Amino acid sequence: MANKDYYSVLGVDKNASEDEIKSAYRRLAKKYHPDLNKTPEAAEKFKEINEAYSVLGDAKKRANYDQFGSADGNPFGAGGGASGGFSDFFGGGGGFSDIFSDIFSAFGGSGRAESRGRERGQDIITAINLTFEEACFGCEKNITIGKLDKCSSCKGTGAKDGREFSICPECNGTGRVRYQQNTLFGTTIREAGCPKCNGTGKIIKEKCSSCNGKGVIRTNKTITVKFPAGIDNGQTLRMRGEGNAPAGSGVNGDLNIKVSVSPHKILVRKGSDLYMDLYIPFTTAILGGKVDIPTLDGTYSLNIPELTASGTVIRLKNKGVKELNRDVHGDLLVTVKAEMPKSLDKQEKAKLQELAKDIGENSYTKYTNYLKKMK
Ligand SMILES: [Zn+2]
Ligand SMILES: [Zn+2]
Repeated sequence: MANKDYYSVLGVDKNASEDEIKSAYRRLAKKYHPDLNKTPEAAEKFKEINEAYSVLGDAKKRANYDQFGSADGNPFGAGGGASGGFSDFFGGGGGFSDIFSDIFSAFGGSGRAESRGRERGQDIITAINLTFEEACFGCEKNITIGKLDKCSSCKGTGAKDGREFSICPECNGTGRVRYQQNTLFGTTIREAGCPKCNGTGKIIKEKCSSCNGKGVIRTNKTITVKFPAGIDNGQTLRMRGEGNAPAGSGVNGDLNIKVSVSPHKILVRKGSDLYMDLYIPFTTAILGGKVDIPTLDGTYSLNIPELTASGTVIRLKNKGVKELNRDVHGDLLVTVKAEMPKSLDKQEKAKLQELAKDIGENSYTKYTNYLKKMK
């Protein structure tokens, strides 16, 4: 069991993405499902496919399998059993959830409590670009997406006027079927959604003409999305239930919006802190002075103290970006860099030499310490 090549069972490459594995599994599971495929080898094949997917469909088990040849990280142990399977195939289980690791929800919480056996519509992924300020302060955007929506003529049932049904003969209207599964540990009885009626218990007598019996219609929908202050480049905003409607009964998928943020001309954002390099004339670094810098609240007159060494970091508290979902701001860190003039003429050099003599080497603590160490 542990030495089977799960990749060839699913007919995918070793480098296949999660999505490729998922769709290969869906395709094969549909092809070999014992209720749909009555050939003698179908049941065995179906079991194999489920076993392969129970490992390759799980990032951790897959990594163990790739490394050790078994799902639990033990090279001599039995592979992952035929878990997953039927209910995952119909999308009701937790098998396909949380594909992205960096998602946070617009509505908080990450639990998925859809009831098993009900279908869940497909997620939609889209992308948006925000300006630097929009991301820092938050914004509202209208986004138009093409999606599957419940057909209003039949209320998503697929039957004419939402009424033309008969009872499903396969499950006698219960929407649930039992089937046998042979595992290493014997035969088990599993119950799952009826595939003939998609768990609805009803068969359509006359199709709805608006959606041709599908229960869903492709539409363009514009929604207003609130991007919270502090959202950052690379994050994904999840709008729960704004994805595609399922073909049967069940809940909508999610809309996942990948956010990219345009850079600022001067400020560089790292988390909630902002950074900038500020080049000033070396004479200003010595004599001190005021220099205008950009902040999120507008231009700020930064005071450069006398005798500021090049490389000094001036920290402006709370002048950074608001943290996501917290009423806390980061800081703005300004690294002061003393810039040298492009060139000096004879006269200027002479003045500086005179100045250097006046000040004397003993005025420089770090430099004189260094000279001592070098002796
Ligand atoms: Zn049925
Ligand atoms: Zn319809």
